[in-house]
Amino acid sequence: MFEELANEMKQFVKDLEDNIENPKDLKYILKRSETLFDVVFSEINKLADREAERLKEMRKKQKHNEKRMDELESKMQYLDENLDYLIKDIYGNEDGEFKITCPYCNYEFNLDIDEDEVEILCPECKNIIELDWNDDEEN
Ligand SMILES: [Zn+2]
Repeated sequence: MFEELANEMKQFVKDLEDNIENPKDLKYILKRSETLFDVVFSEINKLADREAERLKEMRKKQKHNEKRMDELESKMQYLDENLDYLIKDIYGNEDGEFKITCPYCNYEFNLDIDEDEVEILCPECKNIIELDWNDDEEN
């Protein structure tokens, strides 16, 4: 994972060994470098841990969001189904037709919704039925 850094450290030690002739000085500087490297690695590990923790937290949040999306989706589906029932209840069926009951002969038939239409002819008894679109009930 830290290949480049490890190589650089090896090179660093090799350079010191090649260039410092006094064995006492070399021993001291190698010892001192070791302390520095320990700190550097410890900091890198802390950063890596923090990053892993952050990723874990993100995955948890993502899972939570996915769960909420699922819930929302099933609620939407529920609403959609109930809306269908509601539309059928109001308009007779989902094709935007209106259920009419003739007040003269009680014959039931479907009519396309056309709010400009104010009266229609009953197909059964041929009486003229007046339409009132402001009234939600069959008229
Ligand atoms: Zn009729």
